[in-house]
Amino acid sequence: MLGCTKGKNKDFVPVYDVPVEFQPVVSGFIHEAALRGDTLVINNLIIKYDSSQSNLYCALCNTLSSDPGIQKLITVNPKIKCYENAQEFEVLFFHELGHCILGRSHDNRLLPNGDPRSIMVEDKRDLYSPCLYPIGGSCQDNTYKRTYYLDELFDENTAIPQWAR
Ligand SMILES: [Zn+2]
Repeated sequence: MLGCTKGKNKDFVPVYDVPVEFQPVVSGFIHEAALRGDTLVINNLIIKYDSSQSNLYCALCNTLSSDPGIQKLITVNPKIKCYENAQEFEVLFFHELGHCILGRSHDNRLLPNGDPRSIMVEDKRDLYSPCLYPIGGSCQDNTYKRTYYLDELFDENTAIPQWAR
């Protein structure tokens, strides 16, 4: 648009349009933020399916900004199965909301034990998965790691947890 100015657009009208199947994960994100003293109001978010998306992506956020004066859009690829359980579904969407709502970038650093440092790691969703495929009757249940990853999502300065030392 000609003559558009930098900074806040006073004509911005936020749109909130989240399909019912994604509402619980958005509400969960707001709830987890509130538990950590962070009051989030999300009124500028659209989540929609986009089958034209490359199969390299499960979901994409249109911005790396926490600015509430920008329309946020998460497009979801309906052509591929991107999660095996509720925890992986949560990681996928909390990661995208990390980009879209918190303005966080990717963080591929590792913890001392070799686990990803952050839910903002690229392309990894089993950070705190339950025991999925027991081999010989046992496997690792990682759900205890969830608290750390959510703490770190809302506060990058979260201390390294005992289990990762
Ligand atoms: Zn990402």
